[in-house]
Amino acid sequence: MVKDDCIFCKISKGDIPSATIYETADFRVILDVAPANKGHVLILTKEHFDNIFQMDAETAGKLFSLATVVARAIKEETGCDGLNVLQNNGEVAGQTVHHFHLHLIPRFKDDEVVIKWEPKETVAEEQQALAKAIKKYI
Ligand code: 5GP
Ligand code: ZN
Repeated sequence: MVKDDCIFCKISKGDIPSATIYETADFRVILDVAPANKGHVLILTKEHFDNIFQMDAETAGKLFSLATVVARAIKEETGCDGLNVLQNNGEVAGQTVHHFHLHLIPRFKDDEVVIKWEPKETVAEEQQALAKAIKKYI
């Protein structure tokens, strides 16, 4: 399915040009136009999914398999010291383009990229109860 007025539908199908690294029947791997670091890559699905909640397990499996290959390619070329895999779902989570995409962000010692949260305290029994509560939907 393709969504009208979705920029990533147009880019993934090749209707809008992009710096494409690689392409399969299901995905297009491109450079982010406004990268966190040089070599910041996006893997776009060719099918339109708004977010992870809509994505099927088969596509997700293929996606992560491809991500491992692309991550190694980024490391080879950039010589990065590490890499963040990031994927935002919903405005509140920082998603700005509502077509599923995976970020691969190469990281370098002393770069100024910030991916950070304040850790919250937990109580063991509450954690066990929450784990069980979530599990019932799986
Ligand atoms: P999000 O915030 O939705 O997780 O990430 C959207 C990403 O898409 C941003 O990093 C942004 O720079 C990138 N982006 C937005 N529009 C375009 C575009 O037209 N071309 C490319 N290559 N990247 C884009
Ligand atoms: Zn789309």
